[in-house]
Amino acid sequence: MKDYMRFEASVVPLYSKSAEDLWFPYNNGKLAVKSKGDEISILRRKDLEEFDFKLAHTQCMGALDGYNCFSSEIKDNFKTPSGIEIYDLKPLTFLLEEELFLLAAKSLLLLNWEKCHRYCGVCGYYMERKNNESERALFCPKCGYTTWPKTSPAIIVAITKGDQILLAHNKNFPKGMYSVIAGFVELGETFEQCVRREVYEEVGIRIKNIKYFGSQPWPFPNSMMIGFTAEYLDGEINVDGEEIVHADWFSKDEIPKYKKSKSIGAELIEWFKRTH
Ligand SMILES: [Zn+2]
Repeated sequence: MKDYMRFEASVVPLYSKSAEDLWFPYNNGKLAVKSKGDEISILRRKDLEEFDFKLAHTQCMGALDGYNCFSSEIKDNFKTPSGIEIYDLKPLTFLLEEELFLLAAKSLLLLNWEKCHRYCGVCGYYMERKNNESERALFCPKCGYTTWPKTSPAIIVAITKGDQILLAHNKNFPKGMYSVIAGFVELGETFEQCVRREVYEEVGIRIKNIKYFGSQPWPFPNSMMIGFTAEYLDGEINVDGEEIVHADWFSKDEIPKYKKSKSIGAELIEWFKRTH
């Protein structure tokens, strides 16, 4: 399978133990990586032995290119040894290739998931890891309640009108910064309903021809962005004034400042620039 998908998800190691196995250990929410000059790289099993990290909460995530990958936490009293640096997850979107960034994100999400489910949400007893090779779950030995890792889906949509795109300034953005429309999916709502609702609520227009664009786990703190394109149907822009304070149609040559990153929001704007 590794020739088909570089990453193979698994709760248990898929390959025999190797000095090259990949480790994504966090210390106080920051990932420890190897650094040499401007280059950073993910830690390997052999590095763990060299640096003698005190690890806890280790979980297998699966394997990348045939090497097992692990999520772990480095205990608090950690002094960064020479050759090791610790990073917030966000700058790693630029520093790591996509597959490695997603694994770094998965590692932190798994650690946070266990941390937030130490006690049963139903009866308050201690939760335990489910000893099951085919699923990752925590269960309560007292009442049987089981919980699985969760993510919060959010839609993000580029709306076009002829050769223009709708961009909006959110009150929390830095001055002059614009983006496409985004919002969390409500319980019991389809993605398409959410796209229509968010756009209508935030800028007061109706849209048509909603098409899937792509998705991106966005672990800040645990979102899953589902990207769409759509076309303007009718209505005048009327911002909600709460979240969105200004929105307008922009042609490719008039696009205001936007955050250039590897986020799907930036990708949607790049897509518009390429195709219009
Ligand atoms: Zn319980």
